[in-house]
Amino acid sequence: PDIQFQPDPSKKNLVVLGTGWGSVALLKKLDTENYNVIVVSPRNYFLFTPLLPSCTTGNIEHRSIMEPVRQILRSKKASAMYYEAECTHIDAERKVIKISDNSDIKGDVNMTEVPYDMLVVGVGAENATFGIPGVRENSCFLKEIKDAQAIRTKIMDCVETAGFKNQKPEEVSRLMHMVVVGGGPTGVEFAGELRDFFDEDIKKLVPQIADSFKVTLVEALPNVLPMFSKQLIDYTESTFKEEHIEIMTKTMVKNVTDKYIEAEITRPDGKKELTRIPYGLLVWATGNALRPLVKDLMSQIPAQKDSRRGLAVNEYLVVQGARDIWAVGDCAVAGYAPTAQVASQEGAFLARLFNNMAKTEALEAKVHELSSTLNVQPGNSAQIVQEIESTERQLRRIKDIKPFHYSHQGSLAYIGSEKAVADVAWLNGNIASGGKLTYLFWRSAYLSMCFSTRNRVLVALDWIKAKVYGRDVSRE
Ligand code: FAD
Ligand code: NAD
Repeated sequence: PDIQFQPDPSKKNLVVLGTGWGSVALLKKLDTENYNVIVVSPRNYFLFTPLLPSCTTGNIEHRSIMEPVRQILRSKKASAMYYEAECTHIDAERKVIKISDNSDIKGDVNMTEVPYDMLVVGVGAENATFGIPGVRENSCFLKEIKDAQAIRTKIMDCVETAGFKNQKPEEVSRLMHMVVVGGGPTGVEFAGELRDFFDEDIKKLVPQIADSFKVTLVEALPNVLPMFSKQLIDYTESTFKEEHIEIMTKTMVKNVTDKYIEAEITRPDGKKELTRIPYGLLVWATGNALRPLVKDLMSQIPAQKDSRRGLAVNEYLVVQGARDIWAVGDCAVAGYAPTAQVASQEGAFLARLFNNMAKTEALEAKVHELSSTLNVQPGNSAQIVQEIESTERQLRRIKDIKPFHYSHQGSLAYIGSEKAVADVAWLNGNIASGGKLTYLFWRSAYLSMCFSTRNRVLVALDWIKAKVYGRDVSRE
């Protein structure tokens, strides 16, 4: 049987890179009948990142927040092709991409090219390390499922190693010191989840290490959660104090070894001091950096030379200086924060734009066809002219698509002890709230945002399971 994808020659090839927030929002709303849609991503699932910090402790099982891309594409009207591969190069001149199968099992062919007429780059970002020595070798990140699994394993490894016979108190303290670098929402949510795990489960099961367990959050700026209002920053900092999570602000990590980090603290009098912080587990959450693929594309386009944080796009998300390339999400610079909220609105916008472009092209073809029949059948001219006019009216209506406009719904973050903070847009203002009620709002909001009903049911069951039986502390 011919299992190869046969593109319809009458349609354009629309290639979508990535299966994250931006690309999946596009695929969800795109009318796939209009194009030969080809999706390329090394990850054959969509990941609901807002609940990823909960996977690090087993409060939620990782498969509950994954949705297979095959499932997503199956629900489309016309079939779309998916290749599990990484795009390694975009040749903007020839309009082809190079793809490579980087999974463990490779066939005889594991590298090839895919031509495109239209390309959407939604490859997200990498973890920023700022070139600080030792970070990649010694710390865990928190971006993908495998990162959350690695953290879950390491937490219990530290606990069990600390409980090893004759372990010295100093070493127990080091092993039980969990350090999080980066006081953005990723670092804060993880620190909160970790403290919960310890208070609700580990402490009961391994009481001998209870006094040594410590969580420290290290942040270079004067406060954590810079995107939240002052009131919620203060609330988070005081809640962390109650939860015994130490926050070290104005502390910039400069070097990482396998057992300690070195950081520069700026004292209130402005003096700088170098300190050594021993750790058992180190989680690095200092935000985003450009992927090599994005850097490579930017280097081909002179108009991108001054862009530092990603592909500069115009108000229709077209990559500036490129032909037929659009970008969405964390790899695009459209003037908004790199969040799921922005990425998914951008993806949905592109779907509307592409659906519209296809409709426009179909109507233009109709006008063209009607005009040619006008010359052949002069007898029907009045009716044909009427039809041309009505088609042109439709064309004018749909051609007038407004530029992308981001609508901010608010920011939400879990901070531990069944408390959350929320800055939510309300009418023309903003409502800031923090505490247990906000936590219930956080839970219901994220549950309703899960990709599918299946995800929603699994997440709700995981929450119930963890509450009733406790989190599973077995180390995989
Ligand atoms: P991603 O979702 O990262 O997807 C990128 C996709 O591209 C992936 O499928 C990847 O496999 C694929 N890819 C990578 N390289 C290639 C390549 N070379 N070729 C092809 N495909 C490639 N934002 C919020 O708004 N609210 C939250 O509560 C929130 N919580 C978060 C919690 C955590 C722990 C993290 C890490 C982030 C969170 N974010 C949140 C931010 C949000 O996840 C990102 O802004 C969002 O994922 C960006 O979407 P994206 O589509 O640009 O990239
Ligand atoms: P971030 O960029 O928001 O925060 C990183 C923090 O690390 C910064 O505050 C920075 O000052 C600090 N930092 C950098 N280098 C440092 C160093 N050497 N030593 C100490 N501190 C250092 O990163 P993030 O938290 O991973 O978030 C990334 C994006 O994802 C953001 O746009 C964020 O809004 C979004 N996100 C949102 C949520 C949510 O809404 N609940 C959750 C997670 C992530």
